[in-house]
Amino acid sequence: MNVPGTDPNPYRYSKRNFSLVFFLGGLAMLSFVPRNWRSGDVLVAVLIAVLVAVIWGLAAWALLRQRNGSAVILWVTVLCNVGCLVALFHLHRVGVYWFFPLLLATSFVLPWRWSIPVNVVNVAFALFFAFGWMPLEQYYRLIATLSISMLFSSLFSINIERQGGLLMSLVIHDPLTGAFNRRYFEQKLSESLRYRKREGMVSCLVLIDIDHLKPINDIHGHAMGDRVLVAFSSFISGQLRPLDRFFRLGGEEFAILLPDTTATQAVQLAERFRRYLADGSLDGILPAFTISAGVAESPEQGTEGEWLAQCDQALYAAKESGRNRVVVAENTSVNESPGIEAL
Ligand code: GH3
Ligand code: MG
Ligand code: MG
Repeated sequence: MNVPGTDPNPYRYSKRNFSLVFFLGGLAMLSFVPRNWRSGDVLVAVLIAVLVAVIWGLAAWALLRQRNGSAVILWVTVLCNVGCLVALFHLHRVGVYWFFPLLLATSFVLPWRWSIPVNVVNVAFALFFAFGWMPLEQYYRLIATLSISMLFSSLFSINIERQGGLLMSLVIHDPLTGAFNRRYFEQKLSESLRYRKREGMVSCLVLIDIDHLKPINDIHGHAMGDRVLVAFSSFISGQLRPLDRFFRLGGEEFAILLPDTTATQAVQLAERFRRYLADGSLDGILPAFTISAGVAESPEQGTEGEWLAQCDQALYAAKESGRNRVVVAENTSVNESPGIEAL
């Protein structure tokens, strides 16, 4: 079972780009079928046609499939390798040309931790066999061109992945606190609800609002307000389990998404945070502050919007009833515990 909190998308590019590249690559391979057929290499012609058909089929499947999976990518890469080996053994030194696009395709498709070893093996293979098939002068040129292509495609692969990681991090994080942002929250909320409906796994949402942040800004300055937000975020993030997610929804409003967690456990956690902060234990330099929280369990029926609204109502009730408290949403039941209010 996939667990919410992990990001299972193995595609480094959009599925459309991925499929388009392999469709065009297949087209280039297909152009060799008539030539082989005419020259009497019927077996090779059929083999190329079958390879292209399978690569196209896999690319189309990757494009149309709802869920992602890395198996398709691996199969396409394996088939491209098979195609190049066929070309190498059939065409000998002319077949070596196919290793250049193979290097690029492998770097394009696979993460660099996979593409580099695969490319090293491919180049070693091509060079090992090409040794006997061409004059030494030409062979040296082949070593140089294949090695340079491998070097640049590896650097390209590493670079693309670094930039992709950085971009992804910017897209899903809040710059001030480092918590996940609202965009990612919405994604994770629907994911949690899907798990509730499909697998029956209960998750809990905790909405937290810092009490009276405005007076802190007014008295101590906006920079101090920022420090409170940052210190609060790093405290909460440090307390959560690896699959729990902490978000800044905007201003001084935060959310915690707790997968596979009962309402009772979620309330105990929120209450522990509330008490710790109310005791002023966070940081001696900061002004003391408190939080209000609402807790709601993922509903078996209903939408993300309804789940969020239920939790928001609980948070609102916590504010209305005097702040510095944790309130449980209407649809959520917990085992009795001191200091917890229910709507
Ligand atoms: P309460 O939630 O208890 O009702 O009071 P509050 O003062 O926290 O809430 P209110 O909604 O009245 O004001 C929110 C305040 O949060 C005002 C705004 O300046 C502050 N705030 C929001 N975002 C930031 C931020 O990024 N940095 C700082 N320093 N303050 C922020
Ligand atoms: Mg507030
Ligand atoms: Mg607020």
